[in-house]
Amino acid sequence: MKLVKLLSLIIFFSASATLSAQKTTGSHDAGKYFQGSGEVYFKFLTEGAEPNQLSKIISIDKIEGDVIYAYANLSGFTAFLKHGLAFEILPKPGELIKNPRMLNNVNVREIDEWDFYPTYDAYVDMMYQFAEDYPGLCEVVSIGNSVEGRELLMARISDNVGEVEEEPQFLYTGTMHGDETAGYVLLLRLIDYLLVNYNSDAEVTDLVNNLDIWINPLANPDGTFAGGNNTVNGATRFNANNVDLNRNYPDPEDGPHPDGNPWQVETVHFMDFAEANNFTMSANTHGGTEVLNYPWDTWPQLAADDDWWIFVCREYVDTVHLYSPSNYMNEYNNGITNGYAWYSIDGGRQDYMNYFHQCREVTMELSDVKLLSAGQLPSHWDWNYRSLLNYMKQATYGVNGVVTDLETGQPLRAMAYIEGHDIENSYVYSREETGFYQRLLDAGTYDITFSAPGHYPVTIENVSVSDYTTTTVDVQLDAGDLIADFTASATAISMGGMVDFYDGSFGSPVSWSWEFEGGEPSTSNEENPEGIVFAEAGSFDVSLTVTDSQGGSETIVKEGFISVNAEFLMSNQTITTCAGIFYDTGGEDGGYSDNEDFTMTFTPGAAGSKIIVSFEMFDVEYQSSCDYDWLKVYDGENTSATLIGTFCGTGSPGTIEATNEAGALTFQFHSDGSVTNSGWKAVISCTSPPLAPVAGFTADATHIIMGGSVQFTDLTTNSPTSWAWDFPGGTPSVSSLQNPSVQYEEAGIYDVTLTVQNTYGSDTKTIEGYITVDSTIGISELLNSGLSVFPNPLTGDVLNITSETEIQKVELFNYSGKVLLQKTLKTTSTGLNMQGFGKGVYFLKVFTDNGVRVVKLSVMR
Ligand SMILES: [Zn+2]
Repeated sequence: MKLVKLLSLIIFFSASATLSAQKTTGSHDAGKYFQGSGEVYFKFLTEGAEPNQLSKIISIDKIEGDVIYAYANLSGFTAFLKHGLAFEILPKPGELIKNPRMLNNVNVREIDEWDFYPTYDAYVDMMYQFAEDYPGLCEVVSIGNSVEGRELLMARISDNVGEVEEEPQFLYTGTMHGDETAGYVLLLRLIDYLLVNYNSDAEVTDLVNNLDIWINPLANPDGTFAGGNNTVNGATRFNANNVDLNRNYPDPEDGPHPDGNPWQVETVHFMDFAEANNFTMSANTHGGTEVLNYPWDTWPQLAADDDWWIFVCREYVDTVHLYSPSNYMNEYNNGITNGYAWYSIDGGRQDYMNYFHQCREVTMELSDVKLLSAGQLPSHWDWNYRSLLNYMKQATYGVNGVVTDLETGQPLRAMAYIEGHDIENSYVYSREETGFYQRLLDAGTYDITFSAPGHYPVTIENVSVSDYTTTTVDVQLDAGDLIADFTASATAISMGGMVDFYDGSFGSPVSWSWEFEGGEPSTSNEENPEGIVFAEAGSFDVSLTVTDSQGGSETIVKEGFISVNAEFLMSNQTITTCAGIFYDTGGEDGGYSDNEDFTMTFTPGAAGSKIIVSFEMFDVEYQSSCDYDWLKVYDGENTSATLIGTFCGTGSPGTIEATNEAGALTFQFHSDGSVTNSGWKAVISCTSPPLAPVAGFTADATHIIMGGSVQFTDLTTNSPTSWAWDFPGGTPSVSSLQNPSVQYEEAGIYDVTLTVQNTYGSDTKTIEGYITVDSTIGISELLNSGLSVFPNPLTGDVLNITSETEIQKVELFNYSGKVLLQKTLKTTSTGLNMQGFGKGVYFLKVFTDNGVRVVKLSVMR
């Protein structure tokens, strides 16, 4: 092995007599290799080279053994020269055939052999002729113009062409490297083949009926016709700005501009086109070697669907091998390779489509010779066309279906995500216009979770996928009842602080109305209002009203949701407050100054309440009898009240509570003419006012099943000291606990009453019909309902549910009404996987067209 390697090195060097002569480190030399052209083609040895680094400055074309072949524009080549590697300039692949066979004025219907290259004008005419000849089947769409104004054309082929149907979209594009010309003609011929054979060939008919097919034979017309519109001689890899279009796309790892160039118009038009569609599968064709290159190109980790990629690429190449000579497409792993394993590229369209558009795109290298002689086009077609069809067919397999809103039936753009499988954006989305999705998958069993904004996600478990088949799973997502809710970036801030608010409502609200007490602005109609400023101290309510498309609305008020801490700096004044932070004159970060004399009084707002000041930090100049700097504290509204103490040094006053009638504390501070320390920080609060309690309570569940229990939580304010609960229908029926738990054995609707008491009074609150207890249906009633749930008791994993009428939804929950599993369906029979649920009693709520029934279910495992 070593010997062979050495031998090839010697051959390489002896065959390249000028190689070392061209070694240079002077960047000023770069221009001389271009001779008026925008790109150079060259080779160099892998030894001492870092292909994955060089790939960021030059376009590596291929690596054969120890030799790297590459293109560069002037700036890229200048950067390459700085690496000091020996290289050899090679003839341009696009100029190797002096007189390629070109045809102008081609009538597509009269072609015998596709053994020619159409001129640019002939190409445009042929594309439009397809649409004219097959009006119901083919239309031609221009997605924009190239740098030099040539058209970027797509032939769109489908039954009902032009309509957005519930079918996968498929895309082929060719020759984005302008000098790799085989794909240009092969894809033109593929358009013709599909149109001519529709309704006569079953496979073609099937593809056209079940796919929305887009074919773009020439993605870089300026490159292909760099030598003029009448010849492909002089074709360049790059576009008219000398940019490699297959390095110009946003990259999952390297950001929006991995090549350092602005997006070319060809790139922008294609990105807009990809964004407007929802392609399931695609390929871009190339030349220079013969291999199928599958994701990823940019990073070493394998794609989530690596097994599937190997499966479809093998199918392509193995089919090719049945019809091709034995030396065609037989290198790498017998004709296929993982992109990164070959060499890393950044900004390639394959990774762009896979990562940013959830489209499975592969790179097809169709011929060792880039500018293939026209006479070889028919054989390359013959070796590849069956595989090109097979590859399209793969876009119809896996799992597909339509995602709609449960209530409105409207299509939803939903994410279909496979837990434990999907990584790096390998999930797919359903299309907004139709709700249709197609998830290509290797054979296996998958749990697929469907989610859309404002809807409860649904997991369809155990979806079984086989090769060459399509499993259809239609899904309905429930937006649920309109429930207003929100969160915030912070709930405790300092004065002048800013808060962002986030809507967390359910039930698909379409408008939002916010009110921010104490905030600026004080209202907003945005979904997620940001930067609300709270300038004043206090505790503020926030309310949100959401409205749905039917005009229903819900409001939530969160009382005292935002608390803004007041800051009080030592000064001559009286403050009425029960919350805040008290500092020396320097505030939180600074100390006090020399020669200060201030007196400050704090009083509580409510009668009977007392101020509490709790020092967290204290540091004023020390003197043994506190003669220099000092803080005096008085138990009253001024300095004639009782002196509690005189403090200096780090002898903190600790926590001081007023005992006088007014509940006030007065602070007097003095500093002398030298030495200042950091001062103090103290938290102000008040003792509870002498108020009667106000009763309040909540429960962890208000809608439960017979035999279930409810945990009640006391929400009474003003410090109650005793509780008396009344639970008609519950066990126990009365309680004196603060937070009792109560069981309900009988179906019905029950009131709850709480009476609370403290020294200052009492209060009673009753909520009528607060607790609803559902019954379950018995065996005989179940038999008559047209619904069957079996086996019950359940000893295995799968619970079968069948119904005479369509089942819309099933919910599994426990005694306290907590939903454990929710599945949205549209079927008369389903199997529920109960594997995760241990021994115990559960309740199954089945929503059918005939109504809702609750069945008690025992799991015996
Ligand atoms: Zn290429």
